[in-house]
Amino acid sequence: MKTGYYGNWGGAFVPEILHETFRQLNAFFTEAQADPAFWRQYVDLMGSYSCRPTPLTFAENLTRRYGGARIYIKREDLNHTGAHKANNVMGQGLLVRRMGKTRVIAETGAGQHGVATATMAAKFGFECTIYMGEEDVQRQRPNVFWMEKLGATVVPVTSGSRTLKDAINEAFRDWVANMDSTHYVMGTVCGPHPFPTMVAWFQKIIGDEVRGQIMAAHGRLPARVYACVGGGSNAMGIFQGFIDDPGVELVGVEAGGKGLDTGQHATRLATLPAGAPTATPGVAQGYKTMFLQDDDGQMLDTHSVAAGLDYIGVSPMLADLCERGLVRCTAATDTEVMEALQLTMASEGIIPALESAHAFVQAFKEAGELPPDQAIIINQSGRGDKDIFTIAHAFNDPSWKEFIRSKGEEYTP
Ligand SMILES: *Cc1c(COP(=O)(O)O)cnc(C)c1O
Repeated sequence: MKTGYYGNWGGAFVPEILHETFRQLNAFFTEAQADPAFWRQYVDLMGSYSCRPTPLTFAENLTRRYGGARIYIKREDLNHTGAHKANNVMGQGLLVRRMGKTRVIAETGAGQHGVATATMAAKFGFECTIYMGEEDVQRQRPNVFWMEKLGATVVPVTSGSRTLKDAINEAFRDWVANMDSTHYVMGTVCGPHPFPTMVAWFQKIIGDEVRGQIMAAHGRLPARVYACVGGGSNAMGIFQGFIDDPGVELVGVEAGGKGLDTGQHATRLATLPAGAPTATPGVAQGYKTMFLQDDDGQMLDTHSVAAGLDYIGVSPMLADLCERGLVRCTAATDTEVMEALQLTMASEGIIPALESAHAFVQAFKEAGELPPDQAIIINQSGRGDKDIFTIAHAFNDPSWKEFIRSKGEEYTP
């Protein structure tokens, strides 16, 4: 197999000028991966800075409600900055220090990866620049505020559609101009090789932990493991704990948005109804995967109530695992997500992020099919506090309508 490919997917389509930078990154990463002291240093850092190991919670009220498999929740929401993103950025931070670089850059759509990267940069003493589409800067003001307070420079990108893909172009331009001092912190298991391999390696800390935790709690492996899929990093993180166990079914849940037949979704791997435009193979942003694009290769508009799942591409690793039948890909709609969120809050006192709630939807649909001596695990990738405005809008809460207006914000149910 060609290096940097996962079956038919992946690769490293990067400009000539960055070849040496990628060669160097690959060399440092390969060396770190082979050094058990590096992994120990990473695990220690995550323990003292990000509450690892995160707990595995038995959801007893939800289990009783569905009357089937025992439902367990892996609590990535309890990481520092509120999601699994901390695993990846802190790992890359250690690698940047090992490479002797002093500056990090990143691009961010919803802002969560920007906040995580700015946090890491503050902790390690790196300079930090975050590229963000001007539209997104407007939409994600609280995250921009925190990035700046954490010491990062936030650059609003005014070219093109002024959203994520324009921010990605700007970040690459910066990297080309500053490659000696600067590392590009990729936020998920996408982009050119070695980024998918590297991000998946750091995120495997989730799978390593949860395998031992479920054995201790339940005495055997789970029947199924559910994770939401944006770029695919939390899914790859937990799936790696069970990838060699044929008895464990791995289920990825994409954003079904307003419905799989509406064209307003971010479903790239799950099967769409006959006749609906589906994702097709393509090369963009430095790698080959399934993209939501038109016949001319122009990227389509995607939609999800969860900003973190609203992305045109998907991990080449997951494209491969789905193609080989090792991961089952499904989708959940915005409406289903709101119902699952409401139910989880009221039954367990846990507020999942809108992204994570996609995994809950699919688990709830299937828990009753399995016998009570089986267990399933839902990866709760993050906490929902960040989604307060979106959730209030969706539930059409009248007290919020007034509050939001009184703050001069637009109310858009
Ligand atoms: C960013 C984010 C995601 C999507 O990213 P993946 O790479 O698919 O994991 C999912 N959940 C939360 C809470 C996020 O912040």
